[in-house]
Amino acid sequence: MDYLLTEEQRMLKELVAKFAKDQISPVAHEAQKTSRFPAEVIRQAADLGLMGIAYPAEFGGGGMDYVSYMIAIEEISRYCASTGVIISAHSSLATDPIYRFGSDAQKAAYLPDLCSGRKIGCFCLTESGAGSDAGATKTTARLVGDKWLLNGSKQFITNGKEADIAIVFASTDPPAKTRGITAFIVESGTPGYKVGKIEHKLGIRASSTTEILFDECLIPRDNVLGEVNKGFKVAMTTLDGGRLGIASQALGIARASLEDAVAYARERKQFNHPIGEFQAIQWMLADMLMEYESGWLLTYRASVMKDRGLPYSAEAATAKLKASEAAMFCASKAIQIHGGYGYIEDFPVERYYRDAKITEIYEGTSEIMRLVIAGNLLK
Ligand SMILES: Cc1cc2nc3c(=O)[nH]c(=O)nc-3n(C[C@H](O)[C@H](O)[C@H](O)COP(=O)(O)OP(=O)(O)OC[C@H]3O[C@@H](n4cnc5c(N)ncnc54)[C@H](O)[C@@H]3O)c2cc1C
Repeated sequence: MDYLLTEEQRMLKELVAKFAKDQISPVAHEAQKTSRFPAEVIRQAADLGLMGIAYPAEFGGGGMDYVSYMIAIEEISRYCASTGVIISAHSSLATDPIYRFGSDAQKAAYLPDLCSGRKIGCFCLTESGAGSDAGATKTTARLVGDKWLLNGSKQFITNGKEADIAIVFASTDPPAKTRGITAFIVESGTPGYKVGKIEHKLGIRASSTTEILFDECLIPRDNVLGEVNKGFKVAMTTLDGGRLGIASQALGIARASLEDAVAYARERKQFNHPIGEFQAIQWMLADMLMEYESGWLLTYRASVMKDRGLPYSAEAATAKLKASEAAMFCASKAIQIHGGYGYIEDFPVERYYRDAKITEIYEGTSEIMRLVIAGNLLK
């Protein structure tokens, strides 16, 4: 489907594919096995300009479009889905809301460090009682003199351990529910900001997932992102773009599963024949390709719509739903095609299977994606 890409997008794809194969692939297994943040890979990605692909050059970004971002996250996730989500959460969840909703002073203060990868970002929305129902946030922010006083805790925060800059959502008018939530930019060194429990996970183990605690955390009044009590819109708008990052991560996993399965089907012999000669295996491969390409086309469509400034919430939800289901399907079939070897760690397909599952959960579960799609149909 490369014919759909511009010359510039094709060049980026080639560059990132080579980087992912040469630099990310060799550390992917070890980093997830030891739950180690691949700092050296992230530094190299930053040197290549991959931490701020879709932001203007004046802020230190790559000045490219969202389709380019989608391509880069897919290529990276082809070899390491953990690295894919580290960069995706940093870029589309932490950098994007500052670029879209920040004041000129906030953009100047934060975007150059984020786009260059000198600083890492995270997005703090989820709480123990506020997951799919993100409006149920219990973290509060109260104006005290010329500062905001933050109290509460967030959970399941990607990049939580490494982040220097957090986008935090807190209730500033609890009775108003979603109309009383405000977004803040919080620096992780602020007194009262603390990294809490670090989660142990099924997959994407090289990316950290942590609690973030706020205990009488005082932040400057100017660190409100967007308008007071309008933070829910900041969160939802940000998640639309973020879902395309996760769809792209899922596509990388689906493609890895397909490519590895094809290679194995050519090599592995049983009954004196390569297993790829058996129709049962061929049908699985054909279905895997169809799933991957459906997810790719939907993600491409939504990315093009975003680049053109069209409303794309429902299309982003459709893309994430399909791409994440494609990742689960392809990873499962890749294990089946590998037989017993697919179930052990010597082959990466067992990792693809563990990594795929989260794409059906974070940045909105598959059920929430269906709600978004149906809501758009029935409006
Ligand atoms: C590894 C990991 C990384 C994450 N990273 C981040 C991050 O960086 N920042 C952040 O803020 N959050 C993050 N999250 C949180 C993630 O977005 C939430 O886990 C997710 O939105 C679901 O919320 P929940 O876990 O509370 O599940 P719940 O909302 O409790 O859902 C439980 C089940 O109920 C279903 N359900 C809920 N409501 C409905 C409904 N109305 N209709 C039908 N079904 C429904 C869900 O689909 C699900 O199947 C991360 C989570 C994980 C596991």
